[in-house]
Amino acid sequence: MDKANRKTPLTELNGVGGKIAKKLQQSGVQSIEDLTFLFPRAYQDRRHPQPILTLKAGAISTIRGQVLSVSERRFRRRSTLEVMITDNRGVLLLKWFRYNRWFKSNLQSRFAPGSEIIATGKVDFFAGALEMHHPELSQVNGEETSGIVPIYTLTEGVNQHLMRRIIRQAVDRTAGQLEEPIPQETLQDLSLPSLPDSVRYLHTPPDDADESSLNRGDSPYHLRVKFGELLFFQLGILKRKRELSTREGISIPLKSSLTTSFLESLPFDLTEAQSGALSEIETDMTLDVPMHRLLQGDVGSGKTVVAFAAMLGAVAAGHQAILMVPTEVLAEQHFANMSAWAKDPGIPIALFTGRLTGQKRTELSHEAASGEIPLIVGTHALIQEGTVFSSLALAVVDEQHRFGVMQRLALKEKGKAPHFLVMTATPIPRSMAMVIYGDLDLSTIDEIPPGRQDVQTKIFTQSDRAKLHISIAKEVREGRQVFIVYPLVEETERSELSAAREMADLYRDRIFPNLRIGLLTGRMSSEEKDAVMKAFRHGEYDILVSTTVIEVGVDVPNATLMVIEHAERFGLFQLHQLRGRVGRGRHSSQCILMVGDQVSNEARERLKVMIRSSSGFEIAEEDLRIRGPGDFLGTRQAGMPDFRYAHPMKDRELMAEAQRVAGELFRESGKLPDNLVKEVNRFWSDRLNLASSG
Ligand code: ADP
Ligand code: MG
Repeated sequence: MDKANRKTPLTELNGVGGKIAKKLQQSGVQSIEDLTFLFPRAYQDRRHPQPILTLKAGAISTIRGQVLSVSERRFRRRSTLEVMITDNRGVLLLKWFRYNRWFKSNLQSRFAPGSEIIATGKVDFFAGALEMHHPELSQVNGEETSGIVPIYTLTEGVNQHLMRRIIRQAVDRTAGQLEEPIPQETLQDLSLPSLPDSVRYLHTPPDDADESSLNRGDSPYHLRVKFGELLFFQLGILKRKRELSTREGISIPLKSSLTTSFLESLPFDLTEAQSGALSEIETDMTLDVPMHRLLQGDVGSGKTVVAFAAMLGAVAAGHQAILMVPTEVLAEQHFANMSAWAKDPGIPIALFTGRLTGQKRTELSHEAASGEIPLIVGTHALIQEGTVFSSLALAVVDEQHRFGVMQRLALKEKGKAPHFLVMTATPIPRSMAMVIYGDLDLSTIDEIPPGRQDVQTKIFTQSDRAKLHISIAKEVREGRQVFIVYPLVEETERSELSAAREMADLYRDRIFPNLRIGLLTGRMSSEEKDAVMKAFRHGEYDILVSTTVIEVGVDVPNATLMVIEHAERFGLFQLHQLRGRVGRGRHSSQCILMVGDQVSNEARERLKVMIRSSSGFEIAEEDLRIRGPGDFLGTRQAGMPDFRYAHPMKDRELMAEAQRVAGELFRESGKLPDNLVKEVNRFWSDRLNLASSG
């Protein structure tokens, strides 16, 4: 068995029995090797004991003194163990309220009056004197708790003391045998220590260590661990990119007459950003290497037109093109648009979703396989069960399924590999996109076509509720429709449901008894949701109260007012997406953000971004700045693995460095050395189950 993957049972450690091993396993620590990579979350500096007289209540402090007395007090059947210590100038009382007989006798024998001890704990001010409750103790020169002491994230049933003891043993056993997967020269160039050194240092920092950089997590040893993680991520992306690019693609000539006449037939000119993106795509497709490109742009920026123009290029060259979207409703919408566009040049186009069954499905599959139908719009169903194409040149897919979709298509197509265009309406700042989509080239449409109306945005507090009701009534009186969105309540689904239902009832019974009010919740089946959404779209409700984020991309042009309750509970980018549900028709639209009375000034400042900006990019950037990328988009959803040590956004300079080094490693060797390949595979299989992500 190779060293790197060795898994030594936890029970081989002193102090770890079956019970503790089980607790550790439940928290994901399976072996002694795993323990070695469980780094401290913080460090306590116990090198410089403080004079007792200078102690302040509330602080965690370390003091050094002599034991004056050890005594046990009983009060109402409860005992308190007290140890009085002095550093000659001041006196401090150490107290334990819970302890066992063993602890007591141990304390009495190890800390007899006159012996020197070091105690660390939180200082409390109590009845006119300073005390420390349940401090950590060590004897002077005791090997364990003086110096800079690591603090670990604990597992239930394992205290700090035991955790240190077992991790120290784990490090002693394994650190010496750790292999350094990163080439020596790379580490030297970056002035980074080796992995074994870093592991030892982080768990047992020497007395002359820089405690503050350890606590900030930016010591060279921290950087080495983070860099390793980022490097294997980047190597994985590059490896994947290489594998894909060695496949032969289909070269599509530039500027087909089909594309040109389609663009001329449109009632508008492409924006500059659209033209730029289209020519990047077209240039990529002229190559006989498959394109892997991300097309990003805010909702309404006109991605579909660009994608369709590229699809026509493929068709003009005698091949097929498909568009895959996540839901049937969206597939139908796109199909309707594209059918209209395909009608004039007379290009056959088909819709392929899960609803398509039986004879029709078989027929369409045949037509795809024979190449009779060059354009197909569909959902995942399109590739789910072995649909083959006679000559697929371009696959346009929605970001949500990019990994799975690309892989399956790449596997299935035995011939030449299709070009891929991934569209996303989540405008990711370039710095972030480089990190997440390192295996894709990037085109950005950062411009909204002229003539769009801005949605007027206001922040209302609870005292503005009467004003809100007047605004709602006014829109409805003018024949418009209103969304009222309620945030998801975390606790239980039931409370989420009842909150929205109560709200709907309140509007229906008390506030607007004459209006038609619909309710949409996450607990409804997708058929029920579809039915409610359709009814609202057809004007059968005046107001739609909803707890679920109304499906992105679904159009209700007659809806002109979006009310968002507890707006402070939403992320800015989510608010932007919700606001995008209105302002889609010719009527002017508003978005009202309702906030609670308890809302902090900070939260209110944050919401003001919504008033200032209508740009998804700006808002996303702000959201990222405030909340970090983890909240901004689920990393899994973005196709990014979970990082254990590095933070893709905070450590983005290190990420850029990792990207550069990964490129060099590939360039130098043409292919990666085996030990690196092994590490890359391990990284990806640990963090991201590729097989199940699609
Ligand atoms: P996206 O997919 O980026 O959300 P769409 O491609 O659906 O945006 O475009 C939104 C609307 O804008 C469509 O009705 C489309 O016809 C229209 N549109 C696209 N490009 C332009 C343009 N350059 N000028 C005016 N309208 C445009
Ligand atoms: Mg769209």
